[in-house]
Amino acid sequence: MKAARIVKPKESLQVQDLETPKPKGSQVLVKVPASGVCHSDIHLWDGGYEGPGGQFLKTTDRGVKYPVTPGHEVAGSIEAISEESQSLFAKGDKVLVYPWVGEGTCPACRIGEENLCDKPRSLGIYVDGGYTDHVLVPSYRYLVKIGNEDDEGDNLDINEAATLSCSALTHSNHIQYKEC
Ligand SMILES: [Zn+2]
Ligand SMILES: [Zn+2]
Repeated sequence: MKAARIVKPKESLQVQDLETPKPKGSQVLVKVPASGVCHSDIHLWDGGYEGPGGQFLKTTDRGVKYPVTPGHEVAGSIEAISEESQSLFAKGDKVLVYPWVGEGTCPACRIGEENLCDKPRSLGIYVDGGYTDHVLVPSYRYLVKIGNEDDEGDNLDINEAATLSCSALTHSNHIQYKEC
């Protein structure tokens, strides 16, 4: 698969050939036709952002490691899914990806507020995200079905849906980054 990655802050993104991941356990491989571009992606590319007191807060001080594939506003279709996840989703389902993934054990995660995780594993920030043709989602729990393969019923447009997991959740997003 190809991914446009930030190798170093403030340098042009590099299109790299990476091995397409194979989902294991509850992981799901999503084929990505659309990924939004968010102002947070610019901060990631800048290597940080200005904090409340005017000081520059470095992304690497907050656990970001480069190179990373940006893109946390992702919608697509399920390309591969393990047997254990097939009761809820099927290959071809159109999905919106919830990117604010936590590590699962901190106090915030334990009460279901993974977006406030102490050690976040957010897609497109701490782990590879959507500026690619395929993204590995750590669990089907982070998927919202928005349509089926045959485009029947009330399918949301994938390009329009991509931004919802961020722009429609602006409040929690901003708490996570502690920007505003
Ligand atoms: Zn965003
Ligand atoms: Zn956590």
